Amino acid sequence: MNVLIINAGSSSLKYQLMNPDTGVVSAKGLCERIYIDGRLTHNANGKKIVKDIPMPTHSEAIQAVLSILVDPVEGVIKSTDEIDAVGHRVLHGGMEFFDSCIINDEVIAAIEKCIPLGPLHNPANLMGIRACQAVMPSTPQVAVFDTAFHMTMPPVAYRYAIPTEYYKNDSIRRYGFHGTSHKYVTKRAIELMGRKDIKLVNCHLGNGSSLSAVKDGKCQDTSMGLTPLAGVPMGTRSGDLDAAVVQFVMNKYGMSADECLNMLNKKSGVLALSGISSDFRDIEEGAEAGNADCTLALDKFAYEVRKYIGSYAAALGGLDCLVFTAGVGENSASMRARICQNLEYLGVKLDPEKNNVRGKEAIISADDSKVTVWVIPTNEELMIAQDTAELVNAAK
Ligand code: ADP
Repeated sequence: MNVLIINAGSSSLKYQLMNPDTGVVSAKGLCERIYIDGRLTHNANGKKIVKDIPMPTHSEAIQAVLSILVDPVEGVIKSTDEIDAVGHRVLHGGMEFFDSCIINDEVIAAIEKCIPLGPLHNPANLMGIRACQAVMPSTPQVAVFDTAFHMTMPPVAYRYAIPTEYYKNDSIRRYGFHGTSHKYVTKRAIELMGRKDIKLVNCHLGNGSSLSAVKDGKCQDTSMGLTPLAGVPMGTRSGDLDAAVVQFVMNKYGMSADECLNMLNKKSGVLALSGISSDFRDIEEGAEAGNADCTLALDKFAYEVRKYIGSYAAALGGLDCLVFTAGVGENSASMRARICQNLEYLGVKLDPEKNNVRGKEAIISADDSKVTVWVIPTNEELMIAQDTAELVNAAK
């Protein structure tokens, strides 16, 4: 089976052609500068090709992807009939979607309804869906939502303590993001631990970071909120903040709400604290060279992640398993060690040698650690492909 995975942004579109059973990716690439001029970067057969192709809309971008996939020289399939299904990453499923689903007119209408919650991403995701429908009308399409995994949260976790009308009228509540990643590592953790009834905290630590608290495979809480701005500090996002800071900054500097939110989303986080970069590798280098601001940025990040782990252990009533994933979680042994410092009281004890691992599934806790600590590389594309295949096969 071949699943085409599409992640459509406002001016870009990422794609992968994957076998959902083996996880083997036969081709992947990126369309950029859609609406401007158009460029396709395609990786297949061990080769990278870059082509300038006019892409006045997402439709031409999808056309370009399909053309190169079936190209007699550069392609990996003979005809688009060999694409059995398309899986679309969709940012916000609001209160409409609790799981991935096969796309039909009602689903499209419901994704449209969620546009106020994901004003930048949902319209782009819809353009990707419509473009695929136009060029491959008989191929089943599936939507996989970044928010869906978190929809099992109880009201105590998802409700904000603000007047109810905002929840009832405007669906303002905690949703959480990176759901496809949290779902994937949860599935792997359950497989690796050999049991489902585990109390699990997932730390997805990348440029954007979020944690989730999971019991019996179901999400109980997560650190991002209505938007991805909430939770721990990130590459350029502030994370949790006293909302009065917004009012203060707007009043003092004559900023609009949008300008202030732009500052919190794009100019804050470890970029602001370190003063040099949003990239953890640069900050780790800076700290090693004696830059105190870089050390503060790393310590602050670790401190907030550690606080979330503690609060989630309290929410779950214990902790059996801690998972690190995404760019920083998978690759930075020093950040994992920094985070797990002082977590011995919870039963978390890292083995420094085992922790010296990068980008592969491994237990990094000591043999006598009560909590099993794992590095589990995330694979959101595989999760999208598997969800897509499962739904499409079930509908046959
Ligand atoms: P995104 O949220 O954009 O998907 P990723 O999950 O790819 O991000 O994570 C990107 C982050 O991972 C960057 O800040 C990068 O510095 C960090 N990272 C990658 N490799 C390492 C490493 N070896 N050590 C420390 N940080 C790393």
